[in-house]
Amino acid sequence: MTQPSPSSQRIAIVGGGLGGLAAACTLAARGLSVTLFEKSDWLGGKAATLDVDGYHFDMGPTILTVPSVLRKIFAEAGRKLEDYLDLIRLDPQWRCFYENGSILDLEEDRERMALAIGKYADDRSAQGYRDFLRFSERMHAISDRFFFYRNVGGMKDMIDFSVGFKPKLLVDVLAMRMGHSVAGTVRKYVPDHRVAQMLDHFTQYVGSSPDQSPAVLCGIASMQTNEGIWYPRGGTGAVPAALAKLAGELGVTLRTGVGITRLLTDETGRQVLGVETETGESLTFDAVVSNSDTVRTHRELLAAAVQMNRRFERRRHYEAACSGVVMYLGLDRAYEHLLHHNFVFSKDPEEEFATIYRKGEPADDPTCYVCASARSEPGVAPPGGEALYVLVHTPYLRPHHQWSTMYPAYRRKIIDKLKRCAGMPDIEERIKVERYLTPQDIHDRYRVFQGAIYGLASHGKWLGAFKPANRSPDFKNLYLAGGSAHPGPGMPMALMSGWIAADTLCQDRV
Ligand SMILES: Cc1cc2nc3c(=O)[nH]c(=O)nc-3n(C[C@H](O)[C@H](O)[C@H](O)COP(=O)(O)OP(=O)(O)OC[C@H]3O[C@@H](n4cnc5c(N)ncnc54)[C@H](O)[C@@H]3O)c2cc1C
Repeated sequence: MTQPSPSSQRIAIVGGGLGGLAAACTLAARGLSVTLFEKSDWLGGKAATLDVDGYHFDMGPTILTVPSVLRKIFAEAGRKLEDYLDLIRLDPQWRCFYENGSILDLEEDRERMALAIGKYADDRSAQGYRDFLRFSERMHAISDRFFFYRNVGGMKDMIDFSVGFKPKLLVDVLAMRMGHSVAGTVRKYVPDHRVAQMLDHFTQYVGSSPDQSPAVLCGIASMQTNEGIWYPRGGTGAVPAALAKLAGELGVTLRTGVGITRLLTDETGRQVLGVETETGESLTFDAVVSNSDTVRTHRELLAAAVQMNRRFERRRHYEAACSGVVMYLGLDRAYEHLLHHNFVFSKDPEEEFATIYRKGEPADDPTCYVCASARSEPGVAPPGGEALYVLVHTPYLRPHHQWSTMYPAYRRKIIDKLKRCAGMPDIEERIKVERYLTPQDIHDRYRVFQGAIYGLASHGKWLGAFKPANRSPDFKNLYLAGGSAHPGPGMPMALMSGWIAADTLCQDRV
């Protein structure tokens, strides 16, 4: 049988977020003809930027980890990442401010960090950190073997990939401490509650509660210590800009300002045939990669395909990850005691997480993440100033959440917390520029599921790490990429998701 030549395959990408751009670059690098449709007038989705009166802000992601994923995407096209992005390594990685006024820096070097924990807390916690990282490394290795760079939608796919259920796989599955949570695992190793609170926060990268997330997610710590935290000069927005440049060089047609209202299907409703734009164009394609949220792709873009949608809905319960309030503050002074990345922790993490993730309400005493990118690149603010980004995680949108009325009081809480716990007593008088996003804004702006920042929650101590597979098991010719598809949210995972969707598509068609 004659195989179709790669260039005769016409692929549509719905959405120009990091997953969509990664898929577009990978497919185009392999010779397929790609058209990307993005409803907004910028590319990068949540990795958007904001420029006001000389202050430059990244609006969404600020912490870039696991740059090897980006490197792999550029390598697909025979390019070097360094020719497109200037990456600066940040160490210490975060500064942690606690309610009692103490400060602990997260250092990249494991032994240096263990020694710092020994001084800050006690020797048991220092040893506990070393042991925790060994466990984390094991989880990372398991993720590398079974989850990463492959199309996985559940436990069965993991087993299929190992070509039969080998004893080694059983050992790995047992090592994953299935049925145990991240919070429980952290505390098994580290007795000091402040150090444990710091380690809990790796699950905030996936917008999920540490006490409901599976222990395998402890692997995130090892990914960060191994590959570091990076700042792309120019801000995180430089990442989608670099990918868009590569996509252009590879001949991808980038159609910004064009929303897709529907995926076209055949009469059985099982096969995707193309896309319909909001201006009514019906365009046929050989396959479609949806970088739109997976749940909204099914419920909205494929609403007419009732039977196949039912299969999608029955497969699992889709719970949104957390949302957030983001403040962009242009200040007329710098706070030199901040690092580039800072966490100003809540007093009681259990109460905080229970309020956000179980009660579904904003926390009364929230942890504030503060990004002061002027530490690495002074040009993001006018001389002597600070372009401060403050993110507080909140529950995903509930019907009674009216953020237009809730925001002013919550802003007050955040500002008071920064004044009290982060050494910024005069912050309010220093604000020259102020903008913000509420969960409702995030929902509308990025067309996400219930305002979620990080796609679907990773809740479930057994199977919480699994997300919808990149090759749709329900619709032929449909592939899923982005933070709500496998392997999950965050920049590196969303990028990897795009690569997997593209790679799986190529395996199927070329
Ligand atoms: C405030 C905030 C802070 C974050 N912090 C970090 C961080 O520090 N580190 C980190 O790694 N991650 C962070 N994240 C998460 C990270 O940004 C996301 O996981 C990642 O960017 C998601 O990429 P994606 O591929 O899912 O695409 P998205 O960014 O969700 O983009 C999807 C795109 O598809 C478009 N689209 C949707 N539907 C349609 C349609 N029907 N037609 C056309 N276009 C459509 C949307 O307009 C959007 O541009 C943060 C996110 C936010 C919002």
